[in-house]
Amino acid sequence: MLKDLAPGGTFLLNSPLGPDRVWDRLPEGVQRRLIEQRAKFFVIDGNKVARDAGMGGRINTVMQTCFFAIAGVLPAQNAIEAIKNSIRKTYAKKGDEIVGMNLRAVEETLAHLYEVEVPDAVAGVVDAGRRDQRSRLQPNGELKRAPQFVCNVLGEIMAGRGDRVPVSALPNDGTYPTGTTQFEKRNLASEAPVWDPAVCIQCGKCVMVCPHAVIRSKVYEATVLHAAPSSFKSAEARLPDWKGLRYTLQVSVEDCTGCGICVDVCPARNKSEARLKAINMQPQLPLRESERENWNFFLSIPEMDRRKVPTDYVRKMQIQQPLFEFSGACAGCGETPYIKLLTQLFGDRLIIANATGCSSIYGGNLPTTPYTRDQNGRGPAWSNSLFEDNAEFGLGFRVSIDKQQEFAGELLQRLSPQIGRRLTTEILNARQRDEADIFDQRERVIDKRSAVGDRRYSATSARAGRHACAQERLDCRR
Ligand code: SF4
Ligand code: SF4
Repeated sequence: MLKDLAPGGTFLLNSPLGPDRVWDRLPEGVQRRLIEQRAKFFVIDGNKVARDAGMGGRINTVMQTCFFAIAGVLPAQNAIEAIKNSIRKTYAKKGDEIVGMNLRAVEETLAHLYEVEVPDAVAGVVDAGRRDQRSRLQPNGELKRAPQFVCNVLGEIMAGRGDRVPVSALPNDGTYPTGTTQFEKRNLASEAPVWDPAVCIQCGKCVMVCPHAVIRSKVYEATVLHAAPSSFKSAEARLPDWKGLRYTLQVSVEDCTGCGICVDVCPARNKSEARLKAINMQPQLPLRESERENWNFFLSIPEMDRRKVPTDYVRKMQIQQPLFEFSGACAGCGETPYIKLLTQLFGDRLIIANATGCSSIYGGNLPTTPYTRDQNGRGPAWSNSLFEDNAEFGLGFRVSIDKQQEFAGELLQRLSPQIGRRLTTEILNARQRDEADIFDQRERVIDKRSAVGDRRYSATSARAGRHACAQERLDCRR
């Protein structure tokens, strides 16, 4: 972060830790750099200032004020007056309340911006040894569990060292692995939702609206809980269809953006304390370690067979695994919940022709990809056309798929003597309307491949969900 810090430069940090605690929590390398460069160091809890001024999570006015107060590009007082005039002009149409909120935020910023004294030597680093043992790229070591390609190529790009990655390390055919946002762990949120199983009515609304697929639910056999961490929460599943099973709502706090939409939408109130709901925002930092462990355990719980999950009720279908997760879309994005829902409903066979716009930026960017795969290696296929012509682009997909299907039918007829007339007819005439139909058709295709001796798709490996020809670099399953 301080690579470009000039001698005598200024470092401003937005942190919930005050001026008396923040120094000890800086990594050793950051402390050293500040000392070496004889830098000035300022800290502000920008999120708190914005929240207290009534601006929610919008910290732009706060951080802009900090910049002009300490950068010295203009005399501070003149700069602050200019910001206030600009606020009056910019927000005039939105009414006095919004103008007042922003002006209050400017005043509060100045009152809560602190200079931290930089000592002469590195001191008081909390947990230094532990930090050093961990990945140099991610403080939580998530990349250590990642495939080699993610560590050596995507991790380097994430760390801002993409220009050092040799061309030989990049995929020859431009194919990048999917499901790689899971390794980023951006820890953006100062607050994250915490579930109260006693109040929750298991409606699934919070899961459905989360723009980043951070909050999820699963229904499972109680025996699974034998291996659960002590702080892992569960409740009896309330729906009659799931009688005797357990229900868990789990948040990946390290992927949460803190938008609070899940809490806004929650309809269940705590009867003993009306201000509380069945999920409530709490400071993220104290939750981080325990919820990381809970999240990892949650991921290990088997997904329910898709054939058993009805898709006509939100509360039922929201236990389906989303195949679009942790995208870089803005906090509170209104588009991504729909994409996520689409991947829950059809993600293992979804084909997306994306126009250029936000959805292509967060959907197909580098270094990481939010589209992911299920335990069988199936997930959405996605491509982007540069211009606003995704209808034509998608039509091309359709025409091509129809042609491939026609060709596959012809090949199947030719193979009929080998695989048998019955299997041929069944494959060609299969009804493929619901999950059960699709499952049956996939089984028939596996039988057919097995019958013709396709070694890449042996029945055993395909049924076990292992794609025999998957290359190591593409194998990014959890
Ligand atoms: S706060 Fe926002 S990102 Fe976090 S779980 Fe709730 S809806 Fe998802
Ligand atoms: S919205 Fe509230 S009541 Fe519904 S599942 Fe989420 S936490 Fe439970």
